[in-house]
Amino acid sequence: MSLLSQVEPPHRTIARLEPVVGPKRYRQLVDTTASFRQRLGHRTIWNINSTAVGGGVAEMLQALIGYTKGESIATNWTVISGDAPFFAITKRIHNQVHGAPGDGPLTSADARHYARILAANTAELIRQVKPDDIVMLHDPQTAGLITPLVELGARVVWRCHIGVDWSNEATEAAWRFLRPHLGRAHRIVFSRRQYVPEWVPQPLARIVPPSIDPFSPKNQELDEQTVRGILATIGVIDAPVPEKAGQFTRYDGTIDTVNRRAEVLCDSLPCWDDPVVVQVSRWDRLKDMDGVMQAFADHVAPSGDGHLMLVGPSVSDVADDPEGAEVYHECVAQWRGLAPAIRRRIVLVTLPLNDIEENAAMVNALQRHASIISQKSIAEGFGLTVSEGMWKGRPVVGSAVGGILDQVADGTGVLLPDPLDLEAFGTAVRRLLDNPAKTRRLGQAAHAHIREHFVGDTHLLRYATLFDELISEAAGTAQG
Ligand code: UDP
Repeated sequence: MSLLSQVEPPHRTIARLEPVVGPKRYRQLVDTTASFRQRLGHRTIWNINSTAVGGGVAEMLQALIGYTKGESIATNWTVISGDAPFFAITKRIHNQVHGAPGDGPLTSADARHYARILAANTAELIRQVKPDDIVMLHDPQTAGLITPLVELGARVVWRCHIGVDWSNEATEAAWRFLRPHLGRAHRIVFSRRQYVPEWVPQPLARIVPPSIDPFSPKNQELDEQTVRGILATIGVIDAPVPEKAGQFTRYDGTIDTVNRRAEVLCDSLPCWDDPVVVQVSRWDRLKDMDGVMQAFADHVAPSGDGHLMLVGPSVSDVADDPEGAEVYHECVAQWRGLAPAIRRRIVLVTLPLNDIEENAAMVNALQRHASIISQKSIAEGFGLTVSEGMWKGRPVVGSAVGGILDQVADGTGVLLPDPLDLEAFGTAVRRLLDNPAKTRRLGQAAHAHIREHFVGDTHLLRYATLFDELISEAAGTAQG
C-alpha cells in the first residue's frame, strides 16, 4: 500500500473573485496568472503535507489548489503518512515551536524515528517528483523531505505555518531538532516576519500570510434560513429541524444538504434568538478552550445573557493531532464540574469530519450565527478562524498573540494583551454582548478589513512571485 495519497480539490476559476476584490486587483491576478503559467512551463508545483482534513493548512490548500488547477497551472497535493509515534513526535515539535514544552523533550530516538518515517515516504516521492519541479513542503511533519528532494534537483520551499515572536528553551529545542533538515531548502516561508528565527539567512526567508476563500463552503454566503436549518440539523439550537434543511454549495459547484448531526454536550440548547459566543478550534491546549469556558463561566454568564459554544472537530478524525481527544475530554470534565445554572449556558460541540465540505458548512453556519467570535489562543501561528469570523461580519475578541494581531485591526474587534487574563477576556465579551450596536459596527469593519487584506488573490500573487524567483534561479544554475 502506498504511503502517499493525492488530494484532488475541484478546479475553480479565478473569475469568481472579481466581484469580491474589484476590477483592479482582479486584472492583476489575471495578468500574473497568464505570465506565470508560461514561466512554469512543463514543471509541476507540489504541495506536500500530512493531512487532507482538519486545520488551517488543509483548508487553504483546498482553495488555492482549486484555483491554480482551474487556471491550468500544474499543481499537485500529496499527503504523506506516518505512524502514531511519528505524529506524537511532530505534535511535540509543534508545541515546542509555540514555546510549550509539551509532553517531554525530543530525543535522538525521536530524531531517528522521524527520519525513518520520512525516508519511507521519500522513497515513493522521488519516483514521482521530477528534477525540475517546485515543491512546497508544509510544516514540521515534512521538513525531513527537504534534503532528498533538493538532491533530486527539485526547487524546494519549506513553509512553516506556525511560530511565536519570542524564543525560550522549548522553541530552541524544536529548532535544534528541525535545523539539520532545513539547511538545503531554497526558501523558508513564514506567516509573519516576527516568526523567522535569527539563524535563517535573510535572503532565504519569505513572508506569506494565509488567506480565506470567499466561496468555499466555509465562507460562502448563507442566508438566515439556511443558517437556521444547518444549526437545527446538527443539533446545536433548540429549534425544529426544517423539512428542507440547510443547503450549501460544494467546491465543485454542486448543491448539497447538511445531514449529519454534531456530537453536542449540553444541559440545554440556546434558542435561535439567544446571543452566542463561538470559538472554533482544534482541541489543542494552545487554543485554550478551557480558558474560554472558565472566563465565560466566571465573567460573562453570571452578569447577563448569552451562551458559549466551543466547537472543534470530532476527536477521532484528525490524524496528525493525537492530543485532541485528551484536550476535549479535559474540557468535558471541566464542564461537568460547573454549577448547573452556568453549565446550561455552555455547549461543547464536536463536528463530524467524514465529509470535509459538509463540516465546513457547519462551521460557516456557526460563525454566521455567532454574535461574537472568540479566539483566546495562548499562541497562534495565524488563526484562520479569526479571518473566517471577521469575513462573516463578526467582531473577534482574541488574544494579542501571533497572527491574531495581524488580523484584528483597530475598530474591528478587541485584542487582549494577556492571553491568560480571564477577567479581561470575560469583561470584553460581556461589554460587546451588552452593546449590539457596537458589535454590529465592529463586525462591518471586520468584514471590510478581511476583504482588503486576507482574500486568496493576494496569496496567489505572493506564491507566483516566490515560484518565479525559484524558476529564474534554476535557469541561472543550469546556464552557469
Ligand atoms: N476547523 C474546521 N472544523 C472544525 C474545527 C476547525 O473546519 O471542526 C477549521 C477552522 O474553520 C479553520 C481551521 O480548521 O479553517 C483552523 O485553522 P487555524 O489557522 O485557526 O488554526 P490551526 O488549526 O491551523 O492551528
